[in-house]
Amino acid sequence: MSIISSILTQASFSSSDLVKLLGSEGDEMMLLFETSNKIKQNITGNKVYFRGLIEFTNFCIKDCLYCGIRKSNHSIQRYNLSDEQILDAVRFAEEENFASIVLQSGENTSSTFTERITHLITRIKDQSQGRMRITLSLGEQSESVYRQWHEAGAHRYLLRIETTNHTLYQKIHPKNSLHDFNHRLDCLYSLRSVGYQTGTGVMIGLPFQTIDDLANDLLFFQKFGIDMVGMGPYLEHSQTPLFKFRNELMTVQKRFELSLKMIAVLRILMNDINIAATTALQAIDPMGREKGIKAGANVIMPNITPGPHRKDYLLYESKPCPDEEAIQCKGCLDARIAMVDAIGGYGEWGDSKHFQNRTISE
Ligand code: SF4
Repeated sequence: MSIISSILTQASFSSSDLVKLLGSEGDEMMLLFETSNKIKQNITGNKVYFRGLIEFTNFCIKDCLYCGIRKSNHSIQRYNLSDEQILDAVRFAEEENFASIVLQSGENTSSTFTERITHLITRIKDQSQGRMRITLSLGEQSESVYRQWHEAGAHRYLLRIETTNHTLYQKIHPKNSLHDFNHRLDCLYSLRSVGYQTGTGVMIGLPFQTIDDLANDLLFFQKFGIDMVGMGPYLEHSQTPLFKFRNELMTVQKRFELSLKMIAVLRILMNDINIAATTALQAIDPMGREKGIKAGANVIMPNITPGPHRKDYLLYESKPCPDEEAIQCKGCLDARIAMVDAIGGYGEWGDSKHFQNRTISE
């Protein structure tokens, strides 16, 4: 029996086991994917759940060194959708039978912004007669704001930690109180204590990142008891400070493959969580999201931001479909789902089973 197949029979995994799984190649890598896919089919089933992604504004108060919409990038067109445009996108999601949407934006902690979101959540709930599940991806906020939004009707929150290596975190963010690793961690704990299905994620293939870092990221997800994960390859953006390290990165193909292995290992480590096949996978390979599903992911976030603004929300370059209208992307989505051994979970919330299991046992 090979080392990989032997590790795959274990019930628990050390950091060194995870490093070996992430280093698997060829037949052993295929065995890893087969194992993770089997676990997914047994535990979460063969459905892929949809979250219609609405990137409603690219204004951001922060300056993350890897991000194309960082505050200091003055060469992009800033936009802010009106409430009516957002509600139209939600209506579109309803028509397409997506039972969940994600409201995503750059970070903003002003009371004008936080109150606007509370009002929007209420309107989305009213418009959909409570049928639309709302996920928020609006960065670091105070616990009282998280609670206010939860009470208004948002039940899931995505806050990517990006890396759990404190030193690496500092290298990819400006050194100031607005970009504090411990505060980000505190926010994740606040989200969970408020009662959200809590999601996080990391970038894979960052400059200075090691395989041990990634193994530790996976162990962090497990120790925290995270409910949802969205992670994908780091893709550089030429108008960011981190771009100067582009020659030190592993190839894009390696980052892609490593991202699939991260999904697979995470599924083996945490059988019942929701894992998203992110758009960054599709940016590298036209079938990237589908390969992510085969590796163990069970969530897709089709972009339903009104077409004219999608090109302005480029966290990284080479983002797929920026010029297409949402309806055109829906056409490709159906065809893509049919190409993998999965069924679209239309009309279903597809809540994290891990969240359901942990809240029963808490
Ligand atoms: S990663 Fe998020 S918080 Fe950081 S600059 Fe980009 S949008 Fe803002």
